Amino acid sequence: MDITTLYKIYLECTSVTTDSRNCPEGSLFIALKGDNFNGNAFAAKALESGSAYAVVDEAEHAPAGDSHYILVDNCLHTLQQLANYHRRQLGTRLIGITGTNGKTTTKELMAAVLLQKYNILYTLGNLNNHIGVPLTLLRLKPEHELGIIEMGASHPGDIKELVNIAEPDYGIITNVGKAHLEGFGSFEGVIKTKGELYDYLRERKNSTVFIHHDNAFLKEIAGGLNLISYGSEDGLYISGHVTGNSPYLTFEWKAGKDGEHHEVKTQLIGEYNFPNALAAITIGRFFDVEPGKIDIALAEYAPQNNRSQLKQTADNTLIIDAYNANPTSMQASISNFRNMEVENKMLILGDMRELGKDGPEEHQKIADFLTECGFKDVMLVGDQFAAAKHNFPTYPDAPAVIEVLQKSKPHGKTILIKGSNGIKLSTVIDYL
Ligand code: ATP
Ligand code: MG
Repeated sequence: MDITTLYKIYLECTSVTTDSRNCPEGSLFIALKGDNFNGNAFAAKALESGSAYAVVDEAEHAPAGDSHYILVDNCLHTLQQLANYHRRQLGTRLIGITGTNGKTTTKELMAAVLLQKYNILYTLGNLNNHIGVPLTLLRLKPEHELGIIEMGASHPGDIKELVNIAEPDYGIITNVGKAHLEGFGSFEGVIKTKGELYDYLRERKNSTVFIHHDNAFLKEIAGGLNLISYGSEDGLYISGHVTGNSPYLTFEWKAGKDGEHHEVKTQLIGEYNFPNALAAITIGRFFDVEPGKIDIALAEYAPQNNRSQLKQTADNTLIIDAYNANPTSMQASISNFRNMEVENKMLILGDMRELGKDGPEEHQKIADFLTECGFKDVMLVGDQFAAAKHNFPTYPDAPAVIEVLQKSKPHGKTILIKGSNGIKLSTVIDYL
């Protein structure tokens, strides 16, 4: 079936789904294949549970003569092509956001700010890959005035693929740092891959890039782009500085050289959220959201999903950053914690996964940094921390940590908890 015919069918449908367990009435089901499943096998079930049409790419799952089945060569490509076609039909202005750390937080902050003035579409949660991006685009409606599309990458070429689907008008790379080194091969690989967003925008007419001026790596690859800068240097489009972080981030900002000073008290933990907030202000001002409304949006935003949250338990204060971990975010969390003016600090840190051959060196660097900071009360979890040289106690897994905590019963402490999702520190949080 050609894309224009399929597009007509899509417009008749209420939504698009790839999950046979969630097929709203009148939706378009697209059968994707994963490592452990084949969506084609669930096409009939999708139609039974509410979908109006099922797109499949295996002929045996498309009964001849049944017009509810649409047979294509490759469902994933069809999903991506349909999303791109739809995006072009509507022509909505889109902001593409990528970066090693802070994409989701920055996206949420940007959305909070832009919602003060616009009807916008933005990525739900972390749906930022080759499936999530097209699904996000297919939620775009004519009434949306702007869209924010989060784009994630774990291999070279990932961002190129996503920008070719989303065709953003504006771009922002939150930062470049060390993550997924296994997939990228090296830090240079990371920079080049995130730079694929800039490469795309360089070719596109009337595009704009919002750039963190303090980041030398980003500036190096930003030649030939129309730049709007934010950061700590006075006189930038938006500039500012941190005024407090114990425990919540507060900061000041102003527009241009002589703009009025604003102070914002956020509900965010971590100085590393400062550039994320500045990015949201920059985009807000660029799209003409009133400064006072920007301040309100940022002050009211409360983070979710274990991203830099503060939890007060009966016995302790937990600073939870257990959603993911890589050398850059680990370093940022630890140095933020060091700067925090609180008593009785304790750290429970888990291995950073997916670092490939750089794993040993990066874990060693974190261990050295912990020693340098002078932290005494530290529990390290996982093989990679165990293999590094340091004087901190190590534990093979989360249950082993819980066993010790059951005996030591920490009380009156402020505890930073961070590690890759695979280390399951969330179970330690539940225990505490
Ligand atoms: P993912 O790759 O999982 O989509 P993400 O880029 O969307 O991650 P967030 O979920 O916003 O990032 O934040 C994840 C963690 O990264 C935070 O909890 C924090 O530890 C760290 N982080 C956030 N912003 C920054 C930043 N600007 N610089 C360094 N580290 C940051
Ligand atoms: Mg994310």
